[in-house]
Parts: sequence; C-alpha cells; structure tokens
Amino acid sequence: MDKTLRIPDIYGSLVFNDRVMKDRLPKDIYKAVHKTIENGTHLELDVANSVAAVMKEWAVENGATHFTHWFQPMTGLTAEKHDGFISPEPDGRVIMEFSGKELVKGEPDASSFPSGGLRATFEARGYTAWDPSSPAFIKDGSLYIPTAFISYGGEALDKKTPLLRSMEALNRNAVKLLHLLGDTDVSRVTATVGSEQEYFLVDKDMYLKRKDLLFCGRTLLGAPAPKGQEMEDHYFGVLKPKVAAFMHDLDEELWKLGIPAKTKHNEVAPAQHELAPVFETVNVAVDHNQLTMEMMKKVADRHGFACLLHEKPFEGINGSGKHNNWSLQTDTGLNLMNPGRHPGENLRFLTFLVAVIAAVDEYADVLRVSVATAGNDHRLGGNEAPPAIVSIFIGDELSGILDALEGGTFFEGGGKKQMGAGAAVLPHIMRDTTDRNRTSPFAFTGNKFEFRMPGSSLSVANPNIALNTAVAEKLEEYCDALKTVPEKEIPDALRALLKEEIAAHKRIIFNGNGYTDEWVAEAEERGLDNLKSLPEAMPHWISEKSIGLFTKQGILTRQEMLSRYEILLENYAKAVHIESLTLQEMARKDFTEGLLKYMSVLAAETAAKKAVLPEAACVLETGTLASLEEAAGKIAEHLKTLAEETREAEKITDDALACAMYYEKTVLEEMRVLRGIIDGAEALIPDSFLPYPTYGEILFSVR
Ligand code: ADP
Ligand code: MG
Repeated sequence: MDKTLRIPDIYGSLVFNDRVMKDRLPKDIYKAVHKTIENGTHLELDVANSVAAVMKEWAVENGATHFTHWFQPMTGLTAEKHDGFISPEPDGRVIMEFSGKELVKGEPDASSFPSGGLRATFEARGYTAWDPSSPAFIKDGSLYIPTAFISYGGEALDKKTPLLRSMEALNRNAVKLLHLLGDTDVSRVTATVGSEQEYFLVDKDMYLKRKDLLFCGRTLLGAPAPKGQEMEDHYFGVLKPKVAAFMHDLDEELWKLGIPAKTKHNEVAPAQHELAPVFETVNVAVDHNQLTMEMMKKVADRHGFACLLHEKPFEGINGSGKHNNWSLQTDTGLNLMNPGRHPGENLRFLTFLVAVIAAVDEYADVLRVSVATAGNDHRLGGNEAPPAIVSIFIGDELSGILDALEGGTFFEGGGKKQMGAGAAVLPHIMRDTTDRNRTSPFAFTGNKFEFRMPGSSLSVANPNIALNTAVAEKLEEYCDALKTVPEKEIPDALRALLKEEIAAHKRIIFNGNGYTDEWVAEAEERGLDNLKSLPEAMPHWISEKSIGLFTKQGILTRQEMLSRYEILLENYAKAVHIESLTLQEMARKDFTEGLLKYMSVLAAETAAKKAVLPEAACVLETGTLASLEEAAGKIAEHLKTLAEETREAEKITDDALACAMYYEKTVLEEMRVLRGIIDGAEALIPDSFLPYPTYGEILFSVR
C-alpha cells in the first residue's frame, strides 16, 4: 500500500455515497432520494433525471466512460452489461449522456440466464431496476448501478428482488410489534448483516495445473499430505509476507469501494484465511459480499495466487464457510438483539429473541435449503462444519432466563460479570453473556445471531431472505395475538405468549457440542430434521408450508418458488456432471500418464537389476509394481462404471429431483470409490511423475 495514502481519504472514494449526493444534489432532490432510501418510497422520474445527471458528472470526473446495471441472477454470480456514456453529435463531436430513464431501468438481453421456466422464449425480455438503497460505485472504468432483475411479467429472476421484499416484510411487522410494545417512536427496522468470508490462497501456477481446481473449484482426487492441520499452527498464525501483501492490497481495493473490511486472519487449514467486514444493512452487505469475493479473486491473481472460494477445496482439510451475523436495528438506534444489562427484565429483547428462536424452529428446513449447494454438501456435517441439523445456541444465561419465563419464576443472577485474569497487570474485562460455541449452526453471540451454515461461495442473499421472512412471519403472529389486547395488559399477555412459544420451540435450543454422534441421535428424538444433501432438502422448499410462508409475506409467488426449485436442482446436477467428467478426464489421462510412466520405470529397473543380480528379490519394486497394477485394473473398471452412470444421469431430463438424486446417490458415490483407489495409488508414486501438483505441494505452496 502506498504509505502516503490516508485511509479516510481513500475510503469510499469510488462510491456515489450519501456524502457525494449531499454535496452535489440540489437540496430538494437530495431529500427525495433520501426518502426513497430510508422509507422505500417510489422515486419520480424528474428526481431520477437530476440524480442521473449528477451521477454521470461525478463518474466521468472519476474516470468512468461506461455505466452498467449490475444484477444478481440465479447463477449465484453477478452480471453486468456495459453501455458508453457517449452520444455522437452531428458535428462529429461526442457528448456524455445519461438519463434518468437509463438510471432507473435497463433491459439486458437476458434470455440465457436461468429462469426455471418463468420466462418463455417469446417473452425473453428481462428488466433491471435501480436499487437506490445500495450505492452506485466505479470499477474498471464503469459506473456500476446495483439493480434488481425481473421478467416481463414482473417475476423475480434474481436474489435482490426477494431480499428487498423480505426487508419490507420484516420492517412492516417489526415496526407494528414495537408500536404495540410502546416503542412508538420507531418508524423503521432493518436487518443488519456482517458476513465473515473464508477462503484459500494457493499458488497460481500450481492451480492452473489442476483441472479439478480449474473446472470445479475443488480437488477431485489427491492423497493427503503428511502434514495437514493437526498441529493447529495456522489458525491465527503469523501472516506470511506474500499473504500479508495480498491482504493489504485487498483491503485497499475494498475500502475504495466503501466496503468496511475490518478483520483478517489465518484460518484453521493450511492456506486458509478469513476476512470480516463491519456489518451493514442487509442488502448493502449482500452486494458488498459479492464484490468482496470478486475482488479477492482479482487481487489474488495480481499477487500470483488463486483464491479458492469453494466450500471444500481439499478432502480431509477444513472447508470454508461464510458466517452470517444477523441482527435487527431500529431507526432510533436500537439493536433489538442487544440484551442490555438485565436481559431478564428486557421484555422487548426477549420478545425478539423468542421470535427468532421460534422462526428458526418452525422453518428450519427453509433455512437449510437456503444454504444448499453442491459444494456446501461436502462441508455440512463434516467435522469442522456445523452439522446439517439446524439448532440454536443461546448460552447458559439466556437459557436460564427462558426457563424462568416458561416456568413463571424469577430469574436470579445474570448481568455481566467481571473476569479476573489472575495477574494484576492485566486490565479487568467484562465477560459476555454467552461463551463462544463454535459447533452450533445458529448461535447467539452477544448482540446478534450468527448463522454458520452458509458456504463460502454462496450469495448471502439466500439465507437472509429465509431468515427475514421466517422472522417477519413470527412477528406478524405476535402482532395478531396482541392487537386486541388493551395497552395496560400487553406485558402480561406478552409473557403468556412467550411462555407458550418457548414451550413449543425449545427443542431447537442446544447448547452442547453439535459435532457429536450423540447429538445426531438426540436431534432425531427431538424431531429435528437432518437434511444431509441438497436433493434431500429441496422437497421442503416446495412444501405447502414453505409456499404458504413466502406467499403470505409477499416474498415469492408459488411460481417463483417452483422456478427456484428447478434452478437449484439443475445447478446441482450440472455441478456434479462437470465434476464427473473432470474426474474421468484426470483419471484417464493425467493420472494414468503418471501411473504408467512410473510402472514402466519400476519394471525396467527391476529387469535391469535382475540382469546384474539374478538372485535379487526386488521386494520393494515388485511389491509396488503389483500394487499399482492392481489399482490400474480397478481404476479401469470404475472409470467404465462412472462413465456409464454419468450417461444414465444425462438421460433423466423430465424430473429435476430424480436427476439430482441420481447424481448424488450414484454418480457422486462412484466418484468417491474411484477417488479412493486413485488416492491409494498416488501415495505410491513420486510427485515428479504426476503432471499436476499434489496436496502437499499445493497446500504448502505459499511460502
Ligand atoms: P467472530 O470471529 O467471533 O465471529 P468477528 O468479529 O470476526 O467475530 O465477526 C463478527 C461479525 O459480526 C462482524 O462482521 C461484525 O461486524 C458483525 N456484527 C457485529 N454486530 C452486528 C450486528 N448488530 N448485526 C450484524 N452483524 C454484526
Ligand atoms: Mg464468527
């Protein structure tokens, strides 16, 4: 980083943020935009025209020549199409133009994005609509305008549209409930999100030599290295200079884009790291996380690295997640998940806490679906990741409070305690009301909930749509139960309601170790779902209960839900299909090349040795050769089976669920078997014979 740069000067320098708007927009226009952003009200075209003119001026001053509507189709990635500002004049000059209409609405030819049957080809048009609540920014010479993406018929084709709808539902019901509770000064409630992003950095040249990493983002074969993560020497370890340089550069790029990157450290696995930003309003946090992932890849490339965002790039080594920290914030500055000094007496906090607990219990399957991807299936339930069972950790103190509430007794104790570290020189620090629990998929962490199931490559739109919607529904239920109660009786009615809710939903609370087999058995007894894979989880998405939730809250229509169901299943099948073809190619060509070369060297050397020493037993050579020959036979056999099964899978075209199931139960299973044989053989072959780097080389490639 250029040492003369001051962070406050570069921070947000490429963002059309509130400060720029305040400086440059006429007062009444600024106020109108602000109202739209704060209250989600409609923006008039004359206001849009004024904003567009100022936006263009600012963008051109900052080096932009183009603008793009930036959107988030169902691929999980972002999409953009760039248009120049230039408009030729009759005298041969050009002027730079950008109208309010161009700002507000775009019409990308979008027929190639997944729509899950929502868009017939005869109405292939898609529209993008400006989201003024997420600031525009400049990147690579273009002005980026965050937009929602909808079909000709108004159906959501993206992740932003339902996210914005879910924010509205949450706001509507949370404000209503707060008013019932007497907090009449609150006029808006927003979800806040901070998503901790895990990733791997490996040497770029090595990455380019592995087709599995290149095509699938994860390794499909590879014997374990002698050293893995067992020494726990990487977690929070000293940053290697090359990695530190990458992180500096990344921070700077993110800061320019107004992304509040704050924390960075090494993670558990070798070559694994994490970045956490300061939390923001959920839709901005989602956009910023998408940009963060993009920047990570770009900056990594500049530094000679490849950044792996896959959930499980290496077998036997920790995978990567994206912890979604979530809370609710009022426009009066209250964090509704903040227990305060006396949580037991804080009825507002308890109400919202119980609403989240009840929502997560009632719609646990929807939350599970919201994080389902082919990649994340390899991580959930693995030993480092939360299990596929959704449960909530709230810690002992809050558990005690809920027990007391349920039992109608008084909660004793509580409040923060002072901790003594046993050495007088150390300052006294206050202990949080919850300890850290790293094994829970959904943990209360002091003043927010942390949903840990999302995978590292996922758009955090998904889990937040699910969470916002489920909580909105619960809050609405509470409003309905309280709305006819006279004001004076509300506290008592509320206590009675919370008591019922705790009794009905406490099965979801689990403060123990979520990684044990005992928990799996206990969860089953409690009636909690354990949806281990995407194909297993997806039917829950289109159950009448789920459809009822999303349609009632106005987040997704039945049709939109069905389309998402198709898209997710299809994406899953496509991902495993590509993996199968890649594994076949690597096994048949690359691995076989190394295997045969080494076998012929062994055979030739044994023969040569025997010529000189006829009595020599050649145990090592012939033993290895025999093992490799046996593996070669098995590899040929399983390659054939895998190819046949993959062709079978290709034929299932009329039932997306059956197809995905077949990929999971048959193709992936066969890939696992084939991999096992190859990995066993790889352990006998010197690295130099393989045309691609081994686990040991790639995981420890950054020095
Ligand atoms: P840990 O590693 O213990 O989970 P970090 O400090 O790495 O903690 O990450 C915590 C994340 O939670 C940060 O992104 C932080 O901004 C976010 N966070 C803190 N308070 C809130 C809140 N009220 N709402 C949403 N996210 C929050
Ligand atoms: Mg965390």
